[in-house]
Amino acid sequence: PTSPAPGSTPAPASQALFERASAVLPGGVNSPVRAFRAVGGTPRFTASAEGPWLTDADGVRRVDLIGSWGPMILGHGHPGVREAVVAAAAKGFSFGTPSEGEVLLAEELVARVEPLEKVRLVSSGTEATMSAIRLARGFTGRPVVVKFAGCYHGHVDALLASAGSGLATFALPDTPGVTPESAAETLVLPFNDVPALEQAFAAHGDRIACVITEAAAGNMGVVPPAPGWTAALLRETRRAGALLISDEVMTGFRLSRAGWFGLEGRQTADLGDGAGEQALAPDLFTFGKVMGGGFPVAAFGGRADVMAHLAPAGPVYQAGTLSGNPVASAAGLATLQRCTEEVYARVDAVAATLREAASAALAAEGVPHTLGVAGSMFSVFFTDTRVVDYDTARTQDAGAFAAFFHAMLDAGVHLPPSCYESWFCSAAHDDEAVGVVLDALPGAARAAA
Ligand code: PLP
Repeated sequence: PTSPAPGSTPAPASQALFERASAVLPGGVNSPVRAFRAVGGTPRFTASAEGPWLTDADGVRRVDLIGSWGPMILGHGHPGVREAVVAAAAKGFSFGTPSEGEVLLAEELVARVEPLEKVRLVSSGTEATMSAIRLARGFTGRPVVVKFAGCYHGHVDALLASAGSGLATFALPDTPGVTPESAAETLVLPFNDVPALEQAFAAHGDRIACVITEAAAGNMGVVPPAPGWTAALLRETRRAGALLISDEVMTGFRLSRAGWFGLEGRQTADLGDGAGEQALAPDLFTFGKVMGGGFPVAAFGGRADVMAHLAPAGPVYQAGTLSGNPVASAAGLATLQRCTEEVYARVDAVAATLREAASAALAAEGVPHTLGVAGSMFSVFFTDTRVVDYDTARTQDAGAFAAFFHAMLDAGVHLPPSCYESWFCSAAHDDEAVGVVLDALPGAARAAA
């Protein structure tokens, strides 16, 4: 494998900021993926962003394929969203009483995702998944949460466990600071493995409160559910009296009007519960990212009878000082209102162009790779193994990716600095921006060879 060439383009202003940041912030960042740990070199500090472009502290403009890790589906600084934010801010920043903006946002979510009957707004995806599993445990009166290796649901104690090598294992925490007790009721299974799922339910079904899954995984690189996987999740949870939580924090309102559900939910299956052919509708959803348009807004919701267990109507407590914040809600609503079929068509087209060009460039240099695709989300895996789960995703050549990443950065394209992430396109990626990426790919593929 090639070694990375960190900092081949000088970045003195980012370097100086990173040194100051490292004096006051652990690792110099406020969220680990922003540091260039996996690829080496200095993270570029963004000074401003517009449309598909990021401009760094040294004044270098690059095409952005991070998209703030998902939210920026309209591109940066969309004028309509900016106007909505300014108008909301002119009326006050936070009230601590209910206000109309949060109702409008909740109505928009419910209108878009058919099985969503009730939602609660929170401020991050982590809060959404944490609250959803508490609600599932409160509703069922059971302790065990099933998650899948390689799926990320935020930094919730009980969900920071992905151990388990093929066989079902009760998880040990993956990080110091999470006690074995708080991960002990988390059962980690391989993604896309129906026999392992069936075995786990046969052994522990009456103790399982819920299964939480990324609707289409995006945090081990993009790994869509195999045909039949979502139906199997629903069949097993229904049979056992457990709930299925579909984590659409990343996919929600990005892959279609109704996220991954909007693509896969159109299919039907017989779930063996006597109700015949039915849509693949989970009991609960979690959302974030796009629904906040770049502001801290997220949500969880689903079946009304389950949501009725939340305080103040029910006994399961959950709350937030800034939940339903008026400025953030206005940003989210203005973003969703602009997420039209034309926007999804543009994002789909940009994603298809970029992934096909990336694959062709890598093939021309003989670099082993495969594409992971779920709607407009995709990642390039630097392996020729077919990727279906966390184990196969980890067969990648991280050194080849690092070389590719730095060559792209030098050529004016900012990819996510890890080979386990989706590339995020926006409707603002115009022909100029796409052209910069297409021009950068052949050289980056050569660097990775
Ligand atoms: N769930 C999924 C699928 C995610 O991708 C993420 C974040 O990347 C989260 C939950 C956590 O969201 P947040 O970072 O807003 O807490």
